[in-house]
Amino acid sequence: MNIYEYQAMALLGERGVPVVPGHVATTIEDAITAAEKLSGPSYVIKSQILAGGRGKGHFWESPSDGGGVRIARDVESLKNHVTRMLGKHLVTAQTDKKGILVEKVFITEAIDIVSEYYLSLLVDRQTGRITFVVSPEGGMDIEAVARDKPEAIHRISVDPATGFQAHHGRAIGFALGLKGDIFKQSIKLSAALYKAFVETDMSLLEINPLVETGDGKLLPADAKVSFDDNALFRHPDIAALGEAGTSDPLEQEAKKSGLSYIKLDGSIGCMVNGAGLAMGTMDIIQLHGEMPANFLDVGGGASREKVATAFRIILSDPSVKGILINIFGGIMRCDILAEGIIAAARELDINVPLVVRLEGNNVKEGKAALVSSGLAIITANDLGDAAEKIVAAIQKAA
Ligand code: GDP
Ligand code: MG
Repeated sequence: MNIYEYQAMALLGERGVPVVPGHVATTIEDAITAAEKLSGPSYVIKSQILAGGRGKGHFWESPSDGGGVRIARDVESLKNHVTRMLGKHLVTAQTDKKGILVEKVFITEAIDIVSEYYLSLLVDRQTGRITFVVSPEGGMDIEAVARDKPEAIHRISVDPATGFQAHHGRAIGFALGLKGDIFKQSIKLSAALYKAFVETDMSLLEINPLVETGDGKLLPADAKVSFDDNALFRHPDIAALGEAGTSDPLEQEAKKSGLSYIKLDGSIGCMVNGAGLAMGTMDIIQLHGEMPANFLDVGGGASREKVATAFRIILSDPSVKGILINIFGGIMRCDILAEGIIAAARELDINVPLVVRLEGNNVKEGKAALVSSGLAIITANDLGDAAEKIVAAIQKAA
């Protein structure tokens, strides 16, 4: 699970990491109030999206207007920038070409940056250890540094048996090329970051840039945080932060029901059990000339309730012109799945073509139940047949 920068900064601030004062805003009025609470006269306005590369990004609606991170010299200019950013789509190297809607901006005090460094913490699968990855060449071009100058990137891993020690901190400070008081600050900062990482079960904490300010402070000026989903049950407060992360109400409903759902741009709604099968289904739809409207994995034990919720979620997307159900009856029997599909289809008003492909345990009984249900369900024999039938059905309906 990922969280927004403003949430990451609050979380780090609460855990003793020095952070730049700032407030999140969803309206222009909020942004002005936020600025009034900070010490000016300059402010930084940072688009809050769950993707990086904002500084070098552009807005889809106004490509030449400027990036997703901007500096305002006074409140009047802040108002002007916020107006041009909120409600627009920010396109970056990490988004698709339509970008992500900016619904929140993080207003921070502008800091006088003397140097930019890179510092991240991650779980290194090879060593099985939490590892710091640091570079004196921080800022927006870290990907280019990794490609062209890999020797400028240093790794310092921490043995879990000892935990973070001062020598790790010194190694980090040296690797960043720091001296004097800034060097000392880097040791304290690394310790606090390591502690926050472990305590909250993060899987990634990336600070780019970590900055040295004109008044001699070492601070994170950006933070990207991912948590280990399998440990979220231990942190209900952090899990709650994630709700703010998925603004799509359908994705939120799916999450609550234990379904993996991602909305896409096409017209064929998919209901599949298993992520691999879902990917295969999406591929075969494209092979037959249409695009999937979503990725939806109902999971192994697709119960009647889950199938009904999945139907509701798919049907509430107005771009869905047809539904393809592709279920493998391994743990679940096909006849029970068919009953679930029939019950849900009866309960909901399905006004688009519906193709069902079942395979596995008790498939004969399952198909027979679908045919004898009297519902307008098109059954398919295999994946190719299913894709052909749903594509033909929506093209006919159009
Ligand atoms: P990203 O592009 O999504 O990684 O967004 P960042 O938060 O890293 O911001 C991009 C760049 O904006 C940073 O690399 C900094 O150079 C610059 N920046 C961010 N905050 C400040 C600030 O307070 N003052 C100044 N002068 N520059 C900033
Ligand atoms: Mg950054």
